[in-house]
Amino acid sequence: MSNKVHLGHTARKRFGQNFLTDSNIINRIVAAISPDNEHVMVEIGPGLAALTEPVAEGIDRLTVIELDRDLVERLKHHPVLKDKLEIHQGDALQFDFNKLLQPGKKLKVFGNLPYNISTPLMFHLFSFAEHIANMHFMLQKEVVLRLSAAPGSKAYGRLTVMAQYYCQVVPVLEVPPQSFTPPPKVDSAVVRLIPYEQKPWQCHDVHLLESITATAFNMRRKTLRNNLKQLFSDEDFATLNIDPGMRPEQISVSQYVALANHLYQKQQ
Ligand code: SAM
Repeated sequence: MSNKVHLGHTARKRFGQNFLTDSNIINRIVAAISPDNEHVMVEIGPGLAALTEPVAEGIDRLTVIELDRDLVERLKHHPVLKDKLEIHQGDALQFDFNKLLQPGKKLKVFGNLPYNISTPLMFHLFSFAEHIANMHFMLQKEVVLRLSAAPGSKAYGRLTVMAQYYCQVVPVLEVPPQSFTPPPKVDSAVVRLIPYEQKPWQCHDVHLLESITATAFNMRRKTLRNNLKQLFSDEDFATLNIDPGMRPEQISVSQYVALANHLYQKQQ
C-alpha cells in the first residue's frame, strides 16, 4: 500500500515526514509526556496528529507549530481537534517561544522531530530553557546516545556538553523503524530533557561555552592544548587543574564551564 493511500497524505521527505503509526509506541510516548493544564503544552510538527489527538484528549488547549501548509489545513478542519488547537504555521527553528508564555505557567514541549533539523532545534530551545518545564522528543537513536553520553565515551561531544549544561537528560524508549510510515532509515529513540531550575554550575557567558566546545570538538583526536591553544595557555589549564594533554571528550561539563568562566575573567 502506498503511503498516500495509507495516510491520505504523501509524506514529504524535505520536511522530514515519518509518521508514527504504532499505537503501542504512541501510548507510551503520551504517558511519558503526561499532558496537563498546568503547563502550556506545545507540539512541534504535529503532522497527521498521531500524538496530537491523544495528548489533546485530556487537556483544554494545545499549541502546535507545523511547517507544512497542507497539514496545517487538515488540522484546521480536524473534527475533534479544531477547537482545542492553537495552530502556528511556520518554521519551529525561527519561532519565538516567549510568545506562548502565560503567567505562572511553564511550557512542556514535545514532538516527533524532523531529524534533519533536530540538533539546531534543540539549540534554539535551549535559549528558552528557563521557561520550559520539560521536553520530550523523538530523535535518531544516535542523537539520544550523544545527548546522554558520559565523558570518555565515543558519543560524548559538543551536543552532550551543551544539552547537559542546560538539562537533565533521560532516555525514555527506543523505537524501531517499523513504527513509522514511511519507516526512517535509522533507529529512533525518545528522550526527556528537563531544564535545571538551579543549574549545578553557573556560566557567566554561555556564548563562550558554545564557542569553546565548538573549537575543542572540532578535531576530536587532538589534545585540548592543541585545539584550544588560541584561547588557553598551559598556565591557564594548570590554574583550573585540567590536564591539557587530554582529548576533548575526556573532560566533564563542569570543566568546560570552568574553562568558559576562566576565559570570561581573562577578557574582563
Ligand atoms: N508528529 C507526527 C507524527 O509523529 O506522526 C509527524 C512527525 S514528522 C517526523 C515531523 C513533522 O514536523 C512533520 O509534520 C513535518 O511537516 C514537520 N516539520 C518539518 N520541519 C518543520 C519545521 N521546521 N518546523 C515545524 N514543523 C516542521
